[in-house]
Amino acid sequence: MTTQSIVRRVFAGTMIVMFALSAVVQARPMPRNVFVQQDEKRKLPPVNWIRSRKIDVKHLDIDLSFDWDKEQAIGTTVVTFAPFADTDTFTLDAALMTIESVTLVGGGALKFTYDGKADNDNLNVTLDRVYRGGEDVKVKVVYKTNYVNNASDSGILGGFGQGLRFIKPTADNPNKPRQIWSQGESEFNRYWFPSYDSPNDFRTTEIRATVAKPFFVVSNGKLMETRENADSTRTFHWKMEQPYTNYLTSIVVAETTPVVQDFDGIPVYNYGYVNETKEVAATTKNLPATMRFFSEVTGVKYPYAKYSQAFVEDFGGGMENISATTQIEEMIHDERELLDTDSEGLQSHELAHQWFGDYVTCRDWGQIWLNESFATYMQHMWTEKLKGHDEFLYADLRASHNSVLGSWAQGQRRPIVTKYYDSKDGLFDNYAYPGGGCVLHMLRKHLGDKLFSASLNHYLKLTPTSRSRPKICGSRSRKRAASRWTGSLTSGCIAWAIRFSK
Ligand SMILES: [Zn+2]
Repeated sequence: MTTQSIVRRVFAGTMIVMFALSAVVQARPMPRNVFVQQDEKRKLPPVNWIRSRKIDVKHLDIDLSFDWDKEQAIGTTVVTFAPFADTDTFTLDAALMTIESVTLVGGGALKFTYDGKADNDNLNVTLDRVYRGGEDVKVKVVYKTNYVNNASDSGILGGFGQGLRFIKPTADNPNKPRQIWSQGESEFNRYWFPSYDSPNDFRTTEIRATVAKPFFVVSNGKLMETRENADSTRTFHWKMEQPYTNYLTSIVVAETTPVVQDFDGIPVYNYGYVNETKEVAATTKNLPATMRFFSEVTGVKYPYAKYSQAFVEDFGGGMENISATTQIEEMIHDERELLDTDSEGLQSHELAHQWFGDYVTCRDWGQIWLNESFATYMQHMWTEKLKGHDEFLYADLRASHNSVLGSWAQGQRRPIVTKYYDSKDGLFDNYAYPGGGCVLHMLRKHLGDKLFSASLNHYLKLTPTSRSRPKICGSRSRKRAASRWTGSLTSGCIAWAIRFSK
């Protein structure tokens, strides 16, 4: 059925209902509950603006070790930043930490105030002098984390929570493996390192984490070095050279034997359990082909030094941490299970985010469809490629339509793009995922496959030089350009979404 025929049918249906209602109204007094409904009109949620920032964070050096008993990270983070205007103060976001010292790298101790809460700008630092706008400043923060990200009792999977979760054997499950994983989205990386923790800033990172043998550390970018220490610990040094946003920084500590693959010279690591390499290999066998497909559809080859998936306990699903996705370990299947089910959807969704969400990022959570709708629709396109057009239409698109129209019918209604919302985490709903995904399908049908691919490529490569130049103007101008493009697309999409949903 085409979109136009649906609109015609809906219009005809609406007219019949309107005639029927007008007959009822003429026959008897208007029911009282109509007025009640008018009285109960919902208020618009509060307006949210893109967060204004006073510094451009350029690079983070995060150095960590862990206290498993206290479920605490002991950290040092060196923040390299430049203020936009002359200043002798700056702020960072740091949640529920104990801040032991703030010092200027190459200088002395700096005065700071910290309330120990989770609000924005709560670590206030006074510099040793006035720094000019654009001048680089390097400051070292020594701290311990205090927030324990326990699993939620309400969900069987444990959920994502905030910051670092320590997984340990329990009385009920003495075989539970020891692991540590992080969750940054939406603004939860402030629970394990201080930084600017909103999506409208890009910076590079280096992470050094020291753990006892035989634990391994997975993080963003390339593994530069594994250093053996005298106390039988190892320090893993990961470096991410392309600038990216704060919530995508990730760490996983686990005992693992990776299943290694290759996509066109780029190594791909699947970090599963040491005794499940056969199952991990079976589950992930299509991953390099998916990377090839998305590279071809977007015209942008997978852009990072490596790709990895780390499979962990008690995770809420998948999280597209840049070049280092974290996945729920229940998605691993053996050959027998794979006859009945697979996890191609989850794997392709998180992989698609490496382009949509990671390479380009929404600069405010009200624009989350730029991440989630695109990843959802790319996931559907992988279904089409792997399992055929009928499966794509029936299993994916039909399910997407039903989800979003179901939300609408239940009275849960919002525009796909909005700055009116109560909670940024509440925006990860059916409008962010299948809603915008359906709109993208409609655009693809209007444009045809060739122009749709060209549009994706244009969106990803609007200012191609900025990614190799992590400067203040580089990342900002790229975001402004992206916003212009999405802004014009958005108006059309919303108009179409409204027509489609009536
Ligand atoms: Zn997603």
